[in-house]
Amino acid sequence: MDDKEFIGRTALVTGGSRGIGRAICQRLARSGARVAINYVTNKSAAEETQRLVAGENGVSEIYCADVGDPKQTSDMFDSIETDLGTVDLLVTNAGIARSADSVSMSFEIWREIMRTNLDGTFHQVWRAKDGMIEHGYGRIVCISSVLGLVPNQISPERLIAYGTSKSAVIGFVRNCAVAFGPRVRVNGVAPGWIDTEMTEDVSEDARRRLIDATPLKRVGKTAEIAELVHFLLSDKSSFTTGQTHVSSGGLGTLP
Ligand code: NDP
Repeated sequence: MDDKEFIGRTALVTGGSRGIGRAICQRLARSGARVAINYVTNKSAAEETQRLVAGENGVSEIYCADVGDPKQTSDMFDSIETDLGTVDLLVTNAGIARSADSVSMSFEIWREIMRTNLDGTFHQVWRAKDGMIEHGYGRIVCISSVLGLVPNQISPERLIAYGTSKSAVIGFVRNCAVAFGPRVRVNGVAPGWIDTEMTEDVSEDARRRLIDATPLKRVGKTAEIAELVHFLLSDKSSFTTGQTHVSSGGLGTLP
């Protein structure tokens, strides 16, 4: 169980071009995995992730696909299988957030969020599972959110669709873990506030209130989430499946 555990394994990290996904790509490359870096619009960011992976002496390829589209997702897996081999390690990280109060929230916004965060998670896992079961090895980590466990306290109402999509991912993880065991493990990670482009538009006031409400009195770093994802993919968590692990500095996890 040394830190080169993933030599010979292929990892797909969706939304690997930026933020949390980029840190996960770097972490898995450091453990020897061949890394498929997915993005949807930001090719130059994906290329920067690839440069960082190369800096870890890692092998990677870049794949453009909208995870909300089942055909694009399936075609991406076809390409990865040709270039890098069957996906052994899947991190469903691609996600979007839209802030809207209960007046401005529309069904279109609801669908947009669900299409990427929930349908997208389904498309990825469904395309990956058969190869994993056939090969007798598979590890999946689905990125949820602490807002999938507790409603947003800082700006009540504004993230109803987002929080609901992330709750559903937690339920999906539980069900898939039962369905795909014993050789395939499925877990989740529910981050609290992590400094990325997703959170950069949040006001200073909201940021301060959130830090005040966080027992560890700070926001999180992408590398901290990547470390937990790595643990859940690795043999160090060999008796763990169906669980979603919160990493939030204590926010939302204490009464
Ligand atoms: P960012 O906004 O920084 O990055 C989002 C990533 O997802 C980008 O790589 C983007 O690609 C990709 N993406 C978005 N939509 C699609 C799509 N339809 N198909 C493929 N890729 C897509 O987000 P974070 O790094 O902050 O978030 C990563 C995950 O962590 C998300 O699931 C998010 O919900 C979750 N999370 C984040 C928290 C935070 O505080 N940051 C807290 C809790 C959970 P491109 O570069 O091409 O746009």
